[in-house]
Amino acid sequence: MTTQQPGAALPAAAQPDDDLRTGNSVEALRGAVMAKLAYAVGKVQADASDRDWFLATALAVRDRVVQGWQRSYHTTNTGGTKRVYYMSLEFLIGRLMFDALTNLGLTDTMREALSGLGVDLDKLREVEPDAALGNGGLGRLAACFMESMATLAVPAYGYGIRYENGLFRQVVKDGWQQEYPENWLSFGNPWEFARPEIAYDIGFGGHVETHQVDGAPRYEWFPSETVEAVAYDTPVVGWRGHHVNTLRLWSARAGDPLRLDAFNEGDHVGAMADRVKAEAISKVLYPSDATPAGQELRLRQEYFFAAASLQDLVRRHLKKYPDLSNLADQAAIQLNDTHPAIAVVELMRLLVDLHGMAWDDAWRITQATFGYTNHTLLPEALETWPVPLMERMLPRHMQIIYLVNALHLDKLRAEGHSDVDVMRSVSIIAEGWGQQRVKMGTLAFIGSHRINGVSALHTDLMRQTVFRDLNAIYPDRINNKTNGITFRRWLMEANPALTAILVDVLGKAVLDDPSHLEKLAQHAGDPALQARLKAAKRDNKATLGGIIAARTGIQVDPDAMFDIQIKRIHEYKRQHLNLLETIALYNAIRAEPWRDWAPRVKVFAGKAAASYHTAKLIIKLANDVARVVNDDPTVRGKLKVVFLPNYNVSLAERIIPAADLSEQISTAGMEASGTGNMKLALNGALTIGTLDGANVEIKERVGDDNIFIFGLTAEEVAARHRSGLSARETIANSPRLAEVMEAVSSGVFSPDDTDRYRDFANALRDHDHFLVTADFDDYYAAQRRVDALWRDQAAWWRASIMNTARVGWFSSDRTIGEYARDIWDVPVRAAE
Ligand SMILES: *Cc1c(COP(=O)(O)O)cnc(C)c1O
Repeated sequence: MTTQQPGAALPAAAQPDDDLRTGNSVEALRGAVMAKLAYAVGKVQADASDRDWFLATALAVRDRVVQGWQRSYHTTNTGGTKRVYYMSLEFLIGRLMFDALTNLGLTDTMREALSGLGVDLDKLREVEPDAALGNGGLGRLAACFMESMATLAVPAYGYGIRYENGLFRQVVKDGWQQEYPENWLSFGNPWEFARPEIAYDIGFGGHVETHQVDGAPRYEWFPSETVEAVAYDTPVVGWRGHHVNTLRLWSARAGDPLRLDAFNEGDHVGAMADRVKAEAISKVLYPSDATPAGQELRLRQEYFFAAASLQDLVRRHLKKYPDLSNLADQAAIQLNDTHPAIAVVELMRLLVDLHGMAWDDAWRITQATFGYTNHTLLPEALETWPVPLMERMLPRHMQIIYLVNALHLDKLRAEGHSDVDVMRSVSIIAEGWGQQRVKMGTLAFIGSHRINGVSALHTDLMRQTVFRDLNAIYPDRINNKTNGITFRRWLMEANPALTAILVDVLGKAVLDDPSHLEKLAQHAGDPALQARLKAAKRDNKATLGGIIAARTGIQVDPDAMFDIQIKRIHEYKRQHLNLLETIALYNAIRAEPWRDWAPRVKVFAGKAAASYHTAKLIIKLANDVARVVNDDPTVRGKLKVVFLPNYNVSLAERIIPAADLSEQISTAGMEASGTGNMKLALNGALTIGTLDGANVEIKERVGDDNIFIFGLTAEEVAARHRSGLSARETIANSPRLAEVMEAVSSGVFSPDDTDRYRDFANALRDHDHFLVTADFDDYYAAQRRVDALWRDQAAWWRASIMNTARVGWFSSDRTIGEYARDIWDVPVRAAE
């Protein structure tokens, strides 16, 4: 790609550099911010708060994004190019100001423009609230994909819900997690454009009527309730500002906001009841991570945004073409997990009931349009809905599901399939538990032409487990698309010090094409380079140390190894394995304090689902262990434990550049991919991990010498589960583990409540479904190999450099390139 400034494609005369809307000089930016402060925020400089300056700056930046936005829209529209629609119930975006500044190439100019006004850009950065419209990896993936699609000039819309309250704010009180609402919109959102004129009616409930039209039945749905979906658009600018896409989020609005008759009769609350029910749809993000929320409101959210998005894209298509027969040539819809899978049925309803298309034609178009990404194999996370609920809320959709299923099973029978177990497994309807349920994964599979997993291992396991029978019948549909991350946010914005060194050593081209990182490997042993990287990391660690001190009061030493586990708190991610190892290390240091221990700071951060009791207890254990360890003078300077509250994208951007060791220790076979693993390796952290998700592919790339692998493989985990081997035996065979278990269970870390962890410890002894005890000894041994390498700093930094050098492949630009080629059939912008 070229290094020209955005907008250079337009004639220079059209946009003088001092223009307040488009100019990119220091003076133009300064003038633009001052004008926004006065006329959009309505403040004079003397009275302006940091928030006012942030709003003024964001609005000035937004003007520069809008130009490219309109240009991109025009190009796509006149070109008749196929569009990609990325449907996701979650977009874990974080802050946007530095994304926009970085991709427009304006960060330094803006910093200078503001400093002339006595304003510090880096202070304003902290004022922006995080857009946390997601729970974890799945939502963050959607955000990285939006940025990469813009970078590769794939004409795309992201479709989701504009939740008023994003993921809860986590407060840790006496070591326990507390949840508080996160109203990220309370001071306004400078990035979005409300589009009250783009609104669609979304129906719920009611009944279906059948008419005869030319001797064939036609179905008409009469919903009993209607909610309006209103569009809010956020422009998403790609690297170097060449292309700008739209994230369109739907907000729920009641058709009739107020029943005036009731209001006038004095029933002020009742007059608004319908409105409250309707608007609840976009009130809160569902706070569950790996478990489906079996709640009616969740299904309302899913249908609401799927239906609004389809009406929107169908309307766009019909503005240009006479009918929908060529929809699949003009639109590719990607389902991010099964949450939007009802869209498959809704599109059939639109095509057949509303547009009079023959069923078979409609089905062919539907399948050709949809692709489905699976994100989990955990049985408790596979989404199903009770048939009675579906029938009540979406009566016509339930009819269509039955017909899709009947035709699907008939076809298989006609092809000679008869095995009852196979038919049961490939049916969309699950029987049993006294209640029929709709299997959304099966529906999404059958309604899509491509189904993908998110790492090589996960895709293999998909073929062998959840979709084994469907894969045998449709062997070409499942394919792998290993996840990626955007390097703009996770390298350039998060770690400017490392970025500067990379540009210095490798040249500017590394910013456009991460394959240039590979050349770093030949300098891995260079003491001068190692010293520079080490100094940069030490600065990042000192900065993080400041945040840790401010938020927890704990002092940490930036020369110690920063050992980091940051992700949702979940038993399969095994923060408790890390904590048990921490206790074992603590015991070992206390027993022989004179030995040459590698000083460590163990940092944990992550949120637990509000209803997930064990995960919340693990947070409490982390805080209990931290208190005991940090207060013990014997281990002073050798071991510190920190639980940093309220993990989110912005905190991740501070922690990751300061990491030495990356903990990726999930039970093998349970983490679909992971993306935290990629962010940390890119920033030079060494991974200690299991052969799970994308860890496998990270190991293949960085090489066995530059990663610490331990534990059971996915196959061994499955065999263990079949054998039902007892954890008690494992514990009895490991004196070290037995000592740790006894300490936890007897209350050594909870003297104020000695029973606190008794049930928790007994559950590990009795079931240990996540094989914490089975992997413990091997994990402990791997950690001692980590210590040994740390003591040889030249060898450590060599390994660190090899990690940064060899993970360029995990750029989400690579991932999106593969989706574009293998699933969407759209071109991507070629690297120039
Ligand atoms: C990357 C990221 C995740 C995903 O982390 P994993 O380690 O892959 O589970 C979750 N939350 C935030 C804020 C992230 O940035």
